[in-house]
Amino acid sequence: HCNGSSHSSESFANIPPIKFTKLFINGNFVDSVSGKTFEAIDPRTGEAITLVSKGDKEDVDLAVKAARFAFDNGPWPRLSGSERGRILMKLADLIEENIEEIASLDAINGGKLFSLCKLIDIPAASMALRYYAGAADKIHGTVLKLSKGLQGYTLREPIGVVGAIIPWNFPTIMFFMKVAPALAAGCTIVVKPAEQTPLSALYYAHLAKLAGVPDGVLNVVNGYGETAGAAISSHMDIDKVSFTGSTEVGRKIMVAAATSNLKPVSLELGGKSPLLIFDDADVDEAANIAFNGMFFNKGEICVASSRVHVQEGIYDKIVDKLVEKAKALVVGDPFDPQVNQGPQTDKKQFEKILSYIEHGKREGATLLTGGKHIGQKGYYIQPTIFADVKDDMIVAKNEIFGPVMSLMKFKTMEEGIKRANNTTYGLAAGVITKDLNVANTVSRSVRAGIVWINCYAVFDMDCPYGGYKMSGFGRDYGLDALNQYLQIKSVVTPIHDSPW
Ligand code: NAD
Repeated sequence: HCNGSSHSSESFANIPPIKFTKLFINGNFVDSVSGKTFEAIDPRTGEAITLVSKGDKEDVDLAVKAARFAFDNGPWPRLSGSERGRILMKLADLIEENIEEIASLDAINGGKLFSLCKLIDIPAASMALRYYAGAADKIHGTVLKLSKGLQGYTLREPIGVVGAIIPWNFPTIMFFMKVAPALAAGCTIVVKPAEQTPLSALYYAHLAKLAGVPDGVLNVVNGYGETAGAAISSHMDIDKVSFTGSTEVGRKIMVAAATSNLKPVSLELGGKSPLLIFDDADVDEAANIAFNGMFFNKGEICVASSRVHVQEGIYDKIVDKLVEKAKALVVGDPFDPQVNQGPQTDKKQFEKILSYIEHGKREGATLLTGGKHIGQKGYYIQPTIFADVKDDMIVAKNEIFGPVMSLMKFKTMEEGIKRANNTTYGLAAGVITKDLNVANTVSRSVRAGIVWINCYAVFDMDCPYGGYKMSGFGRDYGLDALNQYLQIKSVVTPIHDSPW
């Protein structure tokens, strides 16, 4: 079971039958208007798991109509915050009751480790729901004293109909990162999951109905980006778009918003995040943090520590440890409890990763381990590490979004900071050191939306995260995310004869 040989893929789990494959509009599962479908793929084999209804512009129109009606006339935005919170809490409970079945959907459709879906992804859904449910009855504005003879206050009102467009690397986490704060705020929503991972979102729609979310409040339209996705970003009746995905598509979303109804957008985009390891770091601990920061979820993590900058005194030791760990990683069936890394989710992405690896070799980076795909079928790739990477190489600049790490050596803190910032992205960064001053200086100097000190890729519901620079703008998680689904109304009134 080591790097290079995939673990045998006998059946490790009793994968339950797929129950939901249609679009979810206005509280019902419906076929697409065109009647067309597309295949949900099992990345272990590249074969279809099932057919899913393929939504297009007409289906988005129907979903938006339902969401619009539910917002303008329905109970959801008019319920008390605590009542909305109670329903979201109920949804969280239902998710936990069905955790095995939902985890198997993300594992079979996303190539994600079944064990980690149960441990991390699905629990993160209920945590997000409970976090925002608890905030739903604490949404309030401020009192404005204003000038003499005037007083006022601000209301924070739900922004309206939200369109959410999400990627495939964390189908569950991304779904609730958008849905939980939007619903808590009193918005209604149309979600377009990634075409690679359409299944778990439909299960959540079913559970939302059981929990008491009124019809039209949560709609799921599966389909492709250029059709269903574009229909959302250019829609005249959607009040806000929340997007997570690539920088390239994020740009298109913004253009579509600008040329339609000027809806505000929030964009959580790609990254090429630096991790700085200083000479005083503990070798085992630093290698662990760097390794997991990169190879967790097969490198399909937007905050992946894909540029590991190591100070020269500790460089060789860190390199040895990382290579040792990569070679020991077991790649194989994500349902096998002995496996550490499943297949990449998407065939196109799988091919792109392999071509980036070829680029790295051609540019003169040293391939220390990995570099190849595994097996004759499925999208398995060896954990890959390049050393002697220069800042201007493509493997140092472009987001690879797969299990490929670039190692660089630096001398001084100033050099480390400068090179960490030498990127168009700014999603995340990390620093490993025992020196408090170094940790503080690096974290204040690196231009990224989140900086981890002596840890990496640690998330918490109460910790906002999002991009600087071309990693986008807006924040997910935390109360900052709730604010993205609210807008401020000021109410002003005169006070006659006021002496103050
Ligand atoms: P992508 O941008 O191609 O797709 C993301 C979503 O956008 C999908 O639902 C897709 O159907 C949709 N889409 C595609 N074209 C569209 C269009 N023209 N109009 C509207 N919607 C469209 O991204 P991907 O390649 O599927 O996912 C990987 C990328 O996502 C990586 O670059 C990664 O960094 C990024 N990502 C970022 C975060 C984050 O939080 N910042 C999280 C996960 C992934």
